[in-house]
Amino acid sequence: MTTGHGTEGRQTCGPISILRCAHCGAANRIAPSPRGAPHCGTCGKPLPWLVNATDATFDVETHAAPTVIVDLWAPWCGPCRFVGPILEELSRELAGRLKVVKVNVDENQGLALRYDARSIPTLIVIRDGVVVDRVVGALPKADLVARLTPNLKPPRSGS
Ligand SMILES: [Zn+2]
Repeated sequence: MTTGHGTEGRQTCGPISILRCAHCGAANRIAPSPRGAPHCGTCGKPLPWLVNATDATFDVETHAAPTVIVDLWAPWCGPCRFVGPILEELSRELAGRLKVVKVNVDENQGLALRYDARSIPTLIVIRDGVVVDRVVGALPKADLVARLTPNLKPPRSGS
């Protein structure tokens, strides 16, 4: 039996997020991945993929196979509190096809500057690493879905 020294190099797969399965409630520890979408280790359903990113983890978190929607928000912003729960719902309803990446602009000024988030909430839609849409301000859910749908990829068969 070894004393654990050899396992230390394995924690290099990126920031771990805890994703709760909307189907069975199991908590899953998921690292960012550019391939596929995470599935529940207990029941196998696609997981709602919603993570918090920072200046340091943003690039690895947005390098994802499903379409990514970035929520540039701040705790003091009223309209952000309107949009936040909508994005949580979409992460469940579009599990496997959408990744939601939340960025607190107060704590991550680099990203606020990079995406010119002078007015929040600002939502950035990224598909295959390319910004394909930008929504400034709070939209009702139906309008947001209509805006997002053309940039979603078709669902994978078999899941
Ligand atoms: Zn599950």
